[in-house]
Amino acid sequence: MSGILDARPKVGYFYTGKTSFNLISEKIEGIKVSERKSMPIVVDEEVSVYDGIVTMFLEDVSSIFITSNGYLTGVVSRKDFLKNLIGGMNLHKTPIGVIMTRMPNIITVAMDESILDAAVKIIEHEIDGLPIVEEVVDPEGDRAYKVLGRITKTSITRLFVELGRNE
Ligand code: ADP
Repeated sequence: MSGILDARPKVGYFYTGKTSFNLISEKIEGIKVSERKSMPIVVDEEVSVYDGIVTMFLEDVSSIFITSNGYLTGVVSRKDFLKNLIGGMNLHKTPIGVIMTRMPNIITVAMDESILDAAVKIIEHEIDGLPIVEEVVDPEGDRAYKVLGRITKTSITRLFVELGRNE
């Protein structure tokens, strides 16, 4: 019952026409982002760059999502910190919002998208991870995004290992 053969009453076993590659791609496309999400690390854009770096170390993550009034406004990665520190930025006085990659340039994924869609976005945009978001309307009536989780290269690698081990 690996999916390559199927059984029908009075017919017996027959070849489904699916290769093992078809089955793996069907499986990956069937896994929703919501099933593999991990905890997002989120800070407000007024937090200092220094506190952002401390958060990154304490939470052991490679990127932090930035919000204002609880809505997604940006992403900060390790390179963003390094680039700005080399430039001589005052890390105690500069708010993290000044150095982040900003909306609308943030690549996001929704809970009901497949893990394959998430992996394609990560590869195409050459980034380490994606915020999982829900689209809402803010009090001003504008479109805004709540951060519900994250999907990273590690999430995808973990899935790859499970598939490889046939778990
Ligand atoms: P690192 O800095 O550790 O290489 P990334 O490759 O994820 O991490 O980040 C590279 C650049 O892309 C950074 O400037 C970062 O702000 C930005 N970035 C990271 N994640 C996203 C995302 N989901 N959408 C848009 N830009 C992102």
